[in-house]
Amino acid sequence: MATEAKIGAAATIVSHNPATGEALAELPCATPEEIVATVQRAREAQPRWQGTSVSQRIDVLRRFQEQLRAQRDDVARLICREAGKPAAEALATEVLVVLDAAEFCIRNAHRFLRNIPVPHGNIAMKAKRGHLVREPYGVIGIIAPWNYPFSIPAIETLGALVTGNAVVLKPSEFTPLIGKELERLLLVAGLDPALFHVVVGEGPAGATLLDSPIDKMIFTGSAATGRRVGETAARRLLPVVLELGGKDPMIVLDDANLEVASSGAVWGAMMNAGQTCLSVERCYVHRSMYEPFLEKCRAKIAKLRVGNGIGSEVEVGPMIHERQLRTVEVQVNDAIAHGARLLAGGKRLTELGSSFYAPTLLADVTNGMRLMQEETFGPVLPVAPFDSDEEAVRLANDSDFGLAASIWTGNRSRGEAMAARIKAGTVMLNDMISCFGIAEAPHGGFKQSGIGRTHGELGLQEMVQTKYIDIDLAPSIRKPWWFGYSRQYQEQMGGFLDFLFARKLSVKLRGALRSIGLFRRSNSV
Ligand code: NDP
Repeated sequence: MATEAKIGAAATIVSHNPATGEALAELPCATPEEIVATVQRAREAQPRWQGTSVSQRIDVLRRFQEQLRAQRDDVARLICREAGKPAAEALATEVLVVLDAAEFCIRNAHRFLRNIPVPHGNIAMKAKRGHLVREPYGVIGIIAPWNYPFSIPAIETLGALVTGNAVVLKPSEFTPLIGKELERLLLVAGLDPALFHVVVGEGPAGATLLDSPIDKMIFTGSAATGRRVGETAARRLLPVVLELGGKDPMIVLDDANLEVASSGAVWGAMMNAGQTCLSVERCYVHRSMYEPFLEKCRAKIAKLRVGNGIGSEVEVGPMIHERQLRTVEVQVNDAIAHGARLLAGGKRLTELGSSFYAPTLLADVTNGMRLMQEETFGPVLPVAPFDSDEEAVRLANDSDFGLAASIWTGNRSRGEAMAARIKAGTVMLNDMISCFGIAEAPHGGFKQSGIGRTHGELGLQEMVQTKYIDIDLAPSIRKPWWFGYSRQYQEQMGGFLDFLFARKLSVKLRGALRSIGLFRRSNSV
């Protein structure tokens, strides 16, 4: 966690441990001029990198992966100290997914960057062969949030680099040290320092990066900031990927395994203290299992160990900052005031520190409550009953967001049929969140949850521009559609269109006869 301090004229950011309040480091903020100069440096270096072989780029990723594997505990501890999540969780949800994303790039970059032939069916163009080439954009700007401060920028950076781009990253003001750690690991892996830069600063530093001469922006953050980023980018037609907030529903059908689903709900709502874009933010349970489900969740929440995540036994750490805590408090109190039943938590844990909120279970919530419409981003599991599959789908889709959803059922085809009706970028059956750890699985949202995709092949596709190369195999022939138009030409072209597209054989044949001569025109200019 970090706050801004001013030392003389120089703005700096002080990084804090959200569990203890301890100041971890003070970092100078990049000025707007420095940010633009940094992008220029990256721009100058990028063509050299684009000119290297894919194998050379993969070698850097391999060394990065090896460094990260070897130093995983140090990286996990740093994530824990600056972002607050338990170190064990940082290993599973940050380090592991980055190692896997590196592996995906290492295994797939050659295939992905190979030219792709484009066969075509137009007889008039039969002397042409086409193929697709994927070229890097140039400099990719990345703006990242604090909640997955390592994995989000790292996954995007690896994809950008392996496809030949340079990267300038603006980490969240709350987690600059983790952004710097990513830079250190890449440099140790032998990456040219001109190709990856971290610019430290608050929101305005992100706005400056967006305005600087980058070629594409990959933004991850709230829908409110994402909308501003989209508006600014649109003014100069800068391509953007927007990975924004979520309000993910979990639907527990009447044939689900209650024991498993209740454990899933508790982890899905509480991991990273609920500060995950893919968190379970709304839980709908079939009425026939509603009370037993609530009781199981209550008992499991009571066992959670909350505290400073550096201890290996801790399961739920602090929240990132006071503002986030207040948002949670306001939404929980509002839900209670409107009739929700509080079954666990619902209060700060001041005895642990200023940033801890008790894992909270609320029953009888309704979709009209702020808690069920706005992103909560805290350790809160709100549960509501439903009576039919129809109603569950309606409740799940009743949201401005559409990042992901989960359906819990013992019947796969029933689950798949329901998944088809859910408006979200990802739907998981009998699990949640974990597909973020599958490097091949694309990640991104419907509706207000964003535009574009990260991860997997679709994520790599966002890092490149696709160019169509066309080769004419008859370079000594003038094309029949060039100048030299005449009544005869029009007649022949009409016949040719009939030959190509008429459904009746007789019309087709007549067209073929009329078009004779089209390809042997002597009057073309
Ligand atoms: P914010 O939108 O507050 O910030 C995201 C990033 O944008 C930060 O680096 C922030 O800098 C920067 N920023 C702030 N203002 C501007 C601006 N005007 N122009 C450019 N950049 C700016 O989000 P949070 O950091 O609070 O992250 C939590 C949000 O991210 C949640 O809504 C969550 O759902 C979403 N998220 C989405 C994911 C997805 O994949 N869909 C994954 C993870 C999180 P600074 O922090 O210095 O202000």
